[in-house]
Amino acid sequence: MLELAIIGGGPAGITAGLYACRGGLKDVVMFDMGMPGGQITQSSEIENYPGVKEVKSGLDFMQDWLPQAEHFGLKFEMSAVDKITKNHDGSFKVSFLDGSSQDAISVIVATGSVPKRGGFEGEGEFFGRGVSTCATCDGFFYKGKEVVVLGGGDSALEEAHYLAKICKKVYLVHRRDSFRAAPSTVERVKRTENIELILNASVKKVFGDAMGVSGVELDTKDGIRTLDVPGIFVFVGRNVNNGVLKQEDGSYLCELAQSGEIKVDLKMRTNVAGLFAAGDVRSDAARQVVCAAADGAVAALEAISYVDNFKGGH
Ligand code: FAD
Ligand code: NAP
Repeated sequence: MLELAIIGGGPAGITAGLYACRGGLKDVVMFDMGMPGGQITQSSEIENYPGVKEVKSGLDFMQDWLPQAEHFGLKFEMSAVDKITKNHDGSFKVSFLDGSSQDAISVIVATGSVPKRGGFEGEGEFFGRGVSTCATCDGFFYKGKEVVVLGGGDSALEEAHYLAKICKKVYLVHRRDSFRAAPSTVERVKRTENIELILNASVKKVFGDAMGVSGVELDTKDGIRTLDVPGIFVFVGRNVNNGVLKQEDGSYLCELAQSGEIKVDLKMRTNVAGLFAAGDVRSDAARQVVCAAADGAVAALEAISYVDNFKGGH
């Protein structure tokens, strides 16, 4: 039986692994469905992690996190977790999509979040063929071309600025006339010559053919506007990944907030003993790398004492 299973290999999960192993837990395995690093690896730059002054891509920034944790004993397995259930002895069963499972005394859920869809016509049909949610992954395909970016938060504005360095022109479409993004980012975008702001506007549909997107139709305050672009990047927020907590009967293993985030206390404890949540997936998360990492550390420290007590009582 594992002492601790960590689900998710983003900043929260890797930091949990580092602290748990360095704090003395044995048999700690972190599971991620893909390569570790989490959603920040899709970001073109990170400049607000304390102590790291050099602006790096998210991928470069995360490069040393796993090796550092592995150095202290963390094991990593690339497996997609299907669900977590409770065993009769108080331990947990972590079941994987391939049908296998592992038992663990304690579990930290650090599954983060995924991009929301914009909800416009053609979005699903053209996803991956002109509709994207990752500028660092797909921006290069639009070198020298014009693209649309949808959204008004930090992601949309930062990625619009990144795309403006590759593309001929970026149309930033936002449904209001003020932004959620940090004021310094808004100023930077406004100063960028090849970004055109289209405010109080929404995307009605994308259209194209077998080759992919060829245009975007907007609903603006002056009526319908059509942009002949081959790509649109959608940054309209994130949904938390809480599916691993769903039980056979449709209920969830622990209490969730209304928006689906996992309810935790200040020690990252859920209402189920031995089950912790950390990072973007937990309630009231600040959705920052530094906060996710801190959550992971707190959850791991708490898991260490939980495992000690569990072993003492069995
Ligand atoms: P995540 O990073 O989302 O990691 C969760 C991991 O869990 C993923 O690797 C996923 O594959 C895995 N997972 C999910 N479900 C399962 C499953 N069922 N089985 C196995 N594995 C699973 N923050 C900043 O502080 N500064 C920035 O500049 C910044 N820029 C950003 C730019 C963009 C474009 C985006 C999208 C986010 C940005 N953020 C930034 C936010 C930051 O990336 C997140 O707050 C942070 O990554 C959250 O970390 P996490 O570990 O909680 O979750
Ligand atoms: P976000 O902050 O939730 O912003 C989403 C944006 O999309 C909002 O402007 C919203 O408009 C708009 N929107 C939502 N649904 C829409 C729809 N259906 N159609 C059109 N527009 C829609 O999301 P995010 O930018 O992805 O950021 C997620 C979290 O990560 C945030 O907490 C953010 O601070 C953090 N993050 C931080 C950094 C950084 O620190 N540098 C970088 C990236 C992300 P309204 O404004 O009208 O609601």
